[in-house]
Amino acid sequence: MIRINDILDKVAFYHPEADLDIIDRAYIYSARMHDGQVRLSGEPYLAHPLEVANLLADMKLDATSVAAGLLHDALEDTRATVEDLRTMFGEDITHIVSGVTKLSRFSFKSSEERQAESIRKMILAMADDIRVLLIKLADRLHNMRTLQFHKPEKQVEIAQETLDIYAPLANRLGIFRIKKELEDTAFKYLMPDEYNGTIGWITKNQEEREKHIEAVREILKKKMGEHNLECEVLGRHKHFYSIYKKMVNQGLDFEELYDIIAFRIILNTVKDCYESLGVIHSLWKPIPKRFKDYIGMPKTNMYQSLHTTVIGPFGERVEIQIRTHEMNKIAEEGIAAHWQYKEGRAGDEQSDRQFAWLRQLIKNQKNLKDPREFMDTVRIDLFPDEVYVFTPNGEVKEFPKGATPVDFAYSIHSEVGHRCTGAKVDGRMVPLKYKLQTGEQVEIILSPRHKPTKDWLNFVVTSKARSRIRQWIKTEERGKSLALGRELCEKEFQKHRLHFNPKSEEFQKIAEEFGFKSNEDLLAAIGYGKITLLQAVRKLLPKSAIQEETETFIDRLKKHIQKKKRPSGILVRGVDNILIRYAKCCNPIPGDEMVGYITRGRGVTVHRADCISILTIDPERKIELEWAEGTREAHPVKVRVSCHNKIGLLADISAAISKEGTNITDVSVKADTSAKQAECTFTIEVVNTKQLDTIIRKLKKVKHVIHVARQS
Ligand code: MN
Repeated sequence: MIRINDILDKVAFYHPEADLDIIDRAYIYSARMHDGQVRLSGEPYLAHPLEVANLLADMKLDATSVAAGLLHDALEDTRATVEDLRTMFGEDITHIVSGVTKLSRFSFKSSEERQAESIRKMILAMADDIRVLLIKLADRLHNMRTLQFHKPEKQVEIAQETLDIYAPLANRLGIFRIKKELEDTAFKYLMPDEYNGTIGWITKNQEEREKHIEAVREILKKKMGEHNLECEVLGRHKHFYSIYKKMVNQGLDFEELYDIIAFRIILNTVKDCYESLGVIHSLWKPIPKRFKDYIGMPKTNMYQSLHTTVIGPFGERVEIQIRTHEMNKIAEEGIAAHWQYKEGRAGDEQSDRQFAWLRQLIKNQKNLKDPREFMDTVRIDLFPDEVYVFTPNGEVKEFPKGATPVDFAYSIHSEVGHRCTGAKVDGRMVPLKYKLQTGEQVEIILSPRHKPTKDWLNFVVTSKARSRIRQWIKTEERGKSLALGRELCEKEFQKHRLHFNPKSEEFQKIAEEFGFKSNEDLLAAIGYGKITLLQAVRKLLPKSAIQEETETFIDRLKKHIQKKKRPSGILVRGVDNILIRYAKCCNPIPGDEMVGYITRGRGVTVHRADCISILTIDPERKIELEWAEGTREAHPVKVRVSCHNKIGLLADISAAISKEGTNITDVSVKADTSAKQAECTFTIEVVNTKQLDTIIRKLKKVKHVIHVARQS
């Protein structure tokens, strides 16, 4: 087991002013909390946090990171609480340890390639402090080093997750040493035969290959010298997993695989780079299409280099990278997304750019006297525009920031979207317009009869949800106007004792005359009110019928037009342009809760929600309605006033009503002589319930008035 003093010495060496005391205290606390726990290897548990802390010290991280490394499993595996940590170690360490703990709670099993990328991004988004990620990687590295103590199934599971998620993350952060070790270890457990085959083959030819490297280097150095090109020539081995992948990708046997070594020529200037390329191409025959100029056209992640493959001195393929010292430094520090370049993957430009500056930060760390300076600047939001959430079965989904449960529902399926009535986030109910946060688990609650509303368009952010909702509303609107159009026509025909057949050839002909493709389109247009009934059906009715009826028809038409102006005060959910009339039975006014009823032939009738007559109507014909905001039209409403039968009282009441700026359009009085009481019913015009309430309140104050109520 590594000793804490070794770690302290290491930190003190690269960071003489470090707060070693906090590392020491973290060690003592961790030792006490993990006391008695053992790892699968039989070692005391403490060995693990110590190894993790040591890896962090190898990465030359600050004292806070090393201390947090010692404590990284304390919240997860011991009785330590967030408050304990905060009291003893302060906000920074607590924040980091909580972050690592949060990540440990997720397991990302069997990840498809596409999922894997979302998960990687989610981890990055959740780790709002880069140190969380570095500790997580160190933790994973030590777990991989001790994977032999797990059961075989567990080994495969952990190794797969490492290969899919953590190795690419290490790579993105430019920590190539960790990336390679994670990959090679995972490779060993996931494909033991291939792993052993690769190692066996490499060791078999080791000596021969080293001679080959030396020979090629010598030639290159000599040639460059002849052209006065001052340079450094390196020949390096690729790591096992990348050699294996190369073999698979290129469909080659080991024996055919020459380019497991990459030569690198590092020069002083860009001009030198192109010159040395010329020298190489005149020396050895280049393989067509293998030349890449990333100096002239740098990758989005700032990687710059010239790449070429040539037929070498022994007839073998030789891969050569040419770059300046500056470019090499950037590539070494990780600005080159090795990940992309090696695996030929087209990357996400935006995240690459973000990682470029991140790596730049990591690089700059080495130039800072106090690593804390650097760490203070890395409270990061790597993906400010995205959120990552889980489905109930652990799949990760990516959304633009501000996405809601409705966006989530539509991302699963449009039917799920249409029927979503609510959502649970981490087990608790949230409104549909709730803004999802990274790391949350989302569950959609469905109701088979539920329908989308226009309102949803105000808060969804994904184009998928938006277009599906629009489409649904359009279809729904069409369905309603179609039914309405058909009913209007049927009614008109019935009046003439004729049978209306919308599928008849005559009707089809009329549809064509109006420029519609189908009879249905014409019916829908009638329903919408785009075409009047008269225009449409006069051509079908006998001439005599039309002449007789012309008067009433025109009257009716006028009424339609008048009615169409009135309903401006009402919004019908999901439907535009529909005929609306107010029910006489209950006289709804703005402010009342209301229900629409799709009548046969007369558009939508609006009732108060508590009107008795709607109890009997077909629920299928009910429609949701809203009052439009700021509507100022006057609506008739009946008010009943009981009062003592006194002379002049009627005038007092009328005066009270008129004072409120309201018209009385009708009044009826019933006097009960024996009780000396009178019952008056006024029909007045009001703009909304608020005005009505004011009038009722005023009437109640009139002398001799006993009771005032709106007639229901
Ligand atoms: Mn751990």
